[in-house]
Amino acid sequence: MNMELAFSPAEQAFADEVHDFIEHALPADIRERVEHDLHLGREDYMRWQQILAARGWHAYTWPKEHGGPGWSAVQRYIFEKTSAELNCPTIQPFGPRMVGPVIFTFGSPAQQARHLPAIRASTVWWCQGYSEPASGSDLASLATRAEDAGDHYLVNGQKIWTSYAHYADWMFCLVRTRRGSRPQEGISFLLIDMRTPGIEVQPIPMLEGTHSFNSVFLTDVRVPKANLVGEEGQGWRYAKFLLEHERVENSNIGFSTFAMRRLHRIAGQVMQAGRPLLEDPLFRAKVSAVEAQLKALEVNTLRALSAIGSGGSPGAGLSSALKIRGTEIGQRITELICEAAGPEGMALHPELLAGRGDLGDMQASLSGAPANYFWRRAMSIYGGSNEIQRNIIAKQVLGL
Ligand SMILES: Cc1cc2nc3c(=O)[nH]c(=O)nc-3n(C[C@H](O)[C@H](O)[C@H](O)COP(=O)(O)OP(=O)(O)OC[C@H]3O[C@@H](n4cnc5c(N)ncnc54)[C@H](O)[C@@H]3O)c2cc1C
Repeated sequence: MNMELAFSPAEQAFADEVHDFIEHALPADIRERVEHDLHLGREDYMRWQQILAARGWHAYTWPKEHGGPGWSAVQRYIFEKTSAELNCPTIQPFGPRMVGPVIFTFGSPAQQARHLPAIRASTVWWCQGYSEPASGSDLASLATRAEDAGDHYLVNGQKIWTSYAHYADWMFCLVRTRRGSRPQEGISFLLIDMRTPGIEVQPIPMLEGTHSFNSVFLTDVRVPKANLVGEEGQGWRYAKFLLEHERVENSNIGFSTFAMRRLHRIAGQVMQAGRPLLEDPLFRAKVSAVEAQLKALEVNTLRALSAIGSGGSPGAGLSSALKIRGTEIGQRITELICEAAGPEGMALHPELLAGRGDLGDMQASLSGAPANYFWRRAMSIYGGSNEIQRNIIAKQVLGL
């Protein structure tokens, strides 16, 4: 493993342990599909996450008292970086990174006992029911209603852009339990079993032919009151707690590390004027510029992680800055991959994207370039668009 930062002997030993474990444990078929940036299904993700879970590393950001490994910020960084370097699938964040910390921070003992072990073991797939057709950036305007019906709520409304709702067993969902004087008031945070009658998941196909998005329609869905997290009407507080943590993750170091390696591989193989494109001084300069930016981002992400690691919050300003910079860098790398792939990489090969066909040849490497370019445009939208992040910085950091 190529370590540029000065790790202590204990950290280096940990890095070696992670490296050796992944080398031996990551199934070859999954590694190959990730290497070529091909579509993975629920079974692929779950298989890898359960291998990690058996080692106690699926909920790797959790403290020991909740059954996590209690890693330091540096250990988490090492794990994420090594996972990306060795072509591990991204751990789906909805359980371990999103709802898990909300449940162990604000949930009831019964919710903790029921959900935390299943999230740690990766036996349950969660999805995030925040956005609605008329409430994205302006999330607090959300209109999905939860009416008090005695021992349960009756939920009616529509969620949209719900990633992997078609795989999900449970959804954490923001609903309106009352109208307050401010839109943020009267929002509640509910845990909803996706098998409850009245839930309909409708696919939204993607530009490049894959399926991850959905609309989720909720009609008279009965949700037991025991599934309310924290206090009724305080959901905005829990939702913001979750988003702040989500945005640090959205600095996308893992993805950018992985994409950078792909860029090097492709630009090292594509020939231009009798030599690899990577040796062309102009192209090389573009690659070096984004490499330097990525390095700076890594160091700043470590700062945020150590704030979280020592019990604090990264602060909305730093989370937002990391989200903006991380997505810009990730998108820049996908642009350079497209530039390197050139006209040959413009053809869409659905069978290769789905992971069928000969993945070993050059065409397989190039074929995902435009699909990936389009898909990664989404990074500056989800988790709160980059324009909204700039608004947050303007308000909370610059005091404008
Ligand atoms: C890949 C992907 C996965 C997603 N997964 C989920 C999920 O699992 N669950 C979920 O709940 N949601 C999910 N989302 C939805 C995502 O959170 C929203 O798309 C996002 O919050 C933006 O909302 P919107 O799409 O309604 O756009 P809008 O809010 O309508 O924004 C449209 C444009 O206007 C700009 N804009 C809006 N308001 C302002 C303002 N005040 N100042 C400046 N510019 C502004 C925005 O930046 C954007 O460019 C996902 C989105 C994507 C792309």
